[in-house]
Amino acid sequence: MLGQVIELIEKHERFAITSHIRPDGDSLGSSLALCWILRGLKKDAEVIMCDHVPLAYSKLPGSELVRVVPDIDREYDAVFVIECSDVTRPGLPSLNEQFVVNIDHHSTTALFGDLNWIDSTAAAVGEMIYNLAKAIGSRITPEIASCVYAALLTDTGSFHFSNTTERTFKIASELVKHGAQPAKLSQAIFYSYPYAKILLIGTVLSTLQRDESGRIAWITMTRKAMTESGANEDDSDGVINYPLTVGDVEAVAFFRELQDSTYRISLRSKNRVNVARVAEQFGGGGHCNAAGFTIKADYDHLSKDVISKLKEAVQTSPVVNGREIKPR
Ligand code: 5GP
Ligand code: MN
Repeated sequence: MLGQVIELIEKHERFAITSHIRPDGDSLGSSLALCWILRGLKKDAEVIMCDHVPLAYSKLPGSELVRVVPDIDREYDAVFVIECSDVTRPGLPSLNEQFVVNIDHHSTTALFGDLNWIDSTAAAVGEMIYNLAKAIGSRITPEIASCVYAALLTDTGSFHFSNTTERTFKIASELVKHGAQPAKLSQAIFYSYPYAKILLIGTVLSTLQRDESGRIAWITMTRKAMTESGANEDDSDGVINYPLTVGDVEAVAFFRELQDSTYRISLRSKNRVNVARVAEQFGGGGHCNAAGFTIKADYDHLSKDVISKLKEAVQTSPVVNGREIKPR
């Protein structure tokens, strides 16, 4: 499939790259890296997104070139869609009228593209984009190296998650050789928070609760908590990781109140507790250890329902390291 993607690029001129709503490190890093690769090949390429670039990724090379649009408004020979579970995830309604190349590392993605390049062994789509750069003969510039590094860094949870392999470090090492600066990128992504974010983290963490087994924890962010800290929705990203740092906690839910009784729920887990299966039951999706969904619901019912489904997921999770994890 990589061969077909290369042939498409070689034969055409005008490309757009997009990814899912509320883009993250892999979606932005991969999209920008691909844009730099295409421009290096003298192609007409741009990144279009329906949402703005979050502050954490605003220092990635090319982030200022991302065009925020409510829909596709130009003609392209092909649109590359990065790490999207289906054609609606970019939030660009006319996308299905374009020639679409679906590039993803989630095996659960719908094959919605005219070309579908899926590699579920890749730690991040950034790794696939790096393979493409090498295969097509691009010079790996510091811009490409930095964007791919950011994708790898964020999708592996700073090289903490189980998708981190020997290959990840090998690629990271090559990227550093080509000009990616690890400390500078980590500083930009993880040490450049606005003060309001820390105030918000304090408020949200004060809502922390856990079930009787201690294996499931949850936190909630109301609209009031957000506005009172002077924060915005982006500032709540990453807060979910704190409850997961508790040794006994294996699954976490984060309930974020949007407008009109709509909630965005993020789920995270450790080991083989599959939260994607839980998110799917509410119309969302994701990976085994990180998933989410958005739903209009009454908070009390919703939280009970989500926590009971998480309990099932924890209790039925497979054996880890030859040892069955039993409820304590
Ligand atoms: P987050 O909690 O960071 O918003 O999302 C974590 C992961 O869950 C995302 O990378 C994405 O794979 C998945 N995800 C979150 N929300 C949705 C959703 O509404 N639909 C689908 N299909 N996946 C989602
Ligand atoms: Mn990814």
